[in-house]
Amino acid sequence: MPTRHLVLFDIDGTMLRSEGAGVAAMLHAFTTLHGDRGFSFGGLEIAGALDALLFAKMMTEHGLPAHDEAHAQFRATYRDELDRSLTPQRVRRMSGAAELAHALHQRDVATGLLTGNYPETAMIKLRAAGFDCDRFPFGAFGCDGASRRHLTPVAIERAHAHHGRAFDPAFVTIIGDTPLDIDCATAHGCRAIGVATGPYSVEQLMSAGADLAVSDLSDTTVLLRWILGVELESTVVVAGETRHL
Ligand SMILES: [Mg+2]
Repeated sequence: MPTRHLVLFDIDGTMLRSEGAGVAAMLHAFTTLHGDRGFSFGGLEIAGALDALLFAKMMTEHGLPAHDEAHAQFRATYRDELDRSLTPQRVRRMSGAAELAHALHQRDVATGLLTGNYPETAMIKLRAAGFDCDRFPFGAFGCDGASRRHLTPVAIERAHAHHGRAFDPAFVTIIGDTPLDIDCATAHGCRAIGVATGPYSVEQLMSAGADLAVSDLSDTTVLLRWILGVELESTVVVAGETRHL
């Protein structure tokens, strides 16, 4: 009997870290297509951003056209470079992420992605990190909306289409490593788990409105209980110690 729960995972900083290889592959694609113009993401907040928006910002900053054809060229070149350069040695899987996805799957919880990556590069990253991509058969991606907030209804609708049943936002949990992941959950009445394996601390993720913040995803039991249970109060788990606020 499938549960009514849906869990949406962010990728970078949440499930894995590509240690700069993702950004390097993007910059390589810009330079390959448009020459060496000193492309850099300096001054741009990358964590939690949508790749399609990063593309548009970069092109505009350099006075280049960001039309659909240029975007398609960029996507294809970035994909090829990431596929070539992102070896398993250059990607680090975050502690507990695969185990949590597996445990949710075993309990018939629907699992998908909510990420700023393009779908094709999301899969390249997950594969390189050794994740079972079948655990994430649908999702919302960095080309599916004007901001991360716009991705949440897209992901929920795709979960509906995939599983043939609707998901109530109150039973949707979004797991991510930035305040933007928290925001895209709470803005739609979903629950948010902040994980401090990216640039933000447990305290910062709680301040951003996370319902639960953890130092990493390694405590599968606590996370499962929280996702599936009735525990509604804000909770912090630091180094295995659970504190109810
Ligand atoms: Mg992230």
